[in-house]
Amino acid sequence: CGIVGYIGNKEAVPVLIEGLGKLEYRGYDSAGIAVHHDGEIHVRKYQGRLSVLADHLKQETLTGAVGIGHTRWATHGEPSDRNAHPHTNVAGNIAVIHNGIIENYMKIKEWLIEEKGISFKSETDTEVIAHLIDHYYDGDILQAVYKAIAKMEGAYAIGVVCKEEPDKIVAVRKDSPLIVGLGDGENFIASDIPALLKYTKKMHLIENDEVVLLTKDEVKIFNELGQQMNREIFHVTWDA
Ligand code: GLU
Repeated sequence: CGIVGYIGNKEAVPVLIEGLGKLEYRGYDSAGIAVHHDGEIHVRKYQGRLSVLADHLKQETLTGAVGIGHTRWATHGEPSDRNAHPHTNVAGNIAVIHNGIIENYMKIKEWLIEEKGISFKSETDTEVIAHLIDHYYDGDILQAVYKAIAKMEGAYAIGVVCKEEPDKIVAVRKDSPLIVGLGDGENFIASDIPALLKYTKKMHLIENDEVVLLTKDEVKIFNELGQQMNREIFHVTWDA
């Protein structure tokens, strides 16, 4: 149960793997990533240790400077490749990582199946998030995420990428940890500070119910109502 996200000019995959490695102490049963590559979102996810994912990624060149990564501690759906995160909508243009539990996922899932005819690819509570965001998506991923979280009950830290907006990561914190790392022409999200210390010591501590919009040059933090918040930079004074 760890989250990492990267948007910048470097290769995202090594940053994601490194960051997830620093979150291993939190425990997990599977790991996965989603990366913008060649105009598509590419997802790789496997049950097992982070090294299983890392070994698969060594056998291909998944280049790309924007991505999200996840280690899973299963709550809904057994540990398996298909239940590992990231989860996507049907078209595969929206990918979501999630720590926590969506308490009302069953109600949302039934609605998505009955009203929208969606066939689910996993047994997780998380997958409903990807389909909900897709349902609301109208060219603005930030607004779609706002509309989706208005329907979601429970605890979550989520990270979202969207094929149509490859210059953005959207993240949300509600009763699950989330921080932002600030770099020079690059920005990060993570569950915890150690994941990012190799890259930056400048952080924003995200508060409950806040939504974050990251580009490589800018981080904007909004409250529940969509108002932009000012946040001081938190300087980490210790080493990894
Ligand atoms: N509830 C989600 C799942 O079972 C997320 C678990 C986690 O926090 O890693 O897939």
